[in-house]
Amino acid sequence: MKITSMQESADGTRKYLFELPQGLSIETVYIPEKERHTLCISTQAGCRMGCRFCATGQMQRQAQLTTEQILGQIDAVPEAPKLTHLVFMGMGEPFDNPTALFPALERLMDPKDYGFAPRRISVSTAGVLPGMITYLRDFSAPLSISLHSPFAEERAALMPIERKWPIAEIMNTIRQTPLSTHRRIFCEYLVFKGMNHTPAHVKALAALLYGIPARINLMRPHPIPSANFTAPDDHAMLTFRDALNKHGLIATIRRSRGLEIEAACGMLATQRTRKCRPIPAHATAEKAIS
Ligand code: SF4
Repeated sequence: MKITSMQESADGTRKYLFELPQGLSIETVYIPEKERHTLCISTQAGCRMGCRFCATGQMQRQAQLTTEQILGQIDAVPEAPKLTHLVFMGMGEPFDNPTALFPALERLMDPKDYGFAPRRISVSTAGVLPGMITYLRDFSAPLSISLHSPFAEERAALMPIERKWPIAEIMNTIRQTPLSTHRRIFCEYLVFKGMNHTPAHVKALAALLYGIPARINLMRPHPIPSANFTAPDDHAMLTFRDALNKHGLIATIRRSRGLEIEAACGMLATQRTRKCRPIPAHATAEKAIS
């Protein structure tokens, strides 16, 4: 894995671009925070999940990374020796590439190999149920779910995967899975101005997550050229967070990182990749992810 370019943001976030065969590109992002040094890793070039707010989702899936290419991102970045956390939140849906992902996770957590403690690795999914079940059964590392709306129709408009594996089914599966008390479940929630932060959303989220010890990370969307999503103002973000906390949920607002280098997943690679084929707005979930 060879780095072909690097962009650095004022907050120290660095975005690396790797070139793959056939002119494809993937991104890896290094995020420094006080004692924490996190690498955000890609598992695919492009992604067939088609999330409307994501630049990678416009590319469709162009290649599955191999286990070596996944691990190669860690080996190649200059910050490798000081990395404390790994998040599988870069380009691609990790559980859509299980044959490369799971061996990579085994090596990363093997004390005789990379030796990362499981709690320092997190895999994020849009909701690919079969892979999530395997992950919950075979690994003890944290799980992040891209939630973004508790309402099926609204979520399906943002994330076509909702029509194949509804978020209610995902949460029911987690609820019925025996989890250790240390198991950490995160829900990533992009807050879109005027859309998904009403009192009705608060109530529905409390019902959806009932009995699940999940932490909700509220985030502002990064702007992408093809979609007109914007973040609400700070007051609205705080109001939504406080309302969730009053309903017994644990919600925190995450700071946006690397805004000026377009650190949102896929922004750089979509500019570099020649085969970018936008998914039409009317594409169905079945077309996007079958
Ligand atoms: S948000 Fe994740 S799952 Fe959705 S299209 Fe982007 S990379 Fe794929």
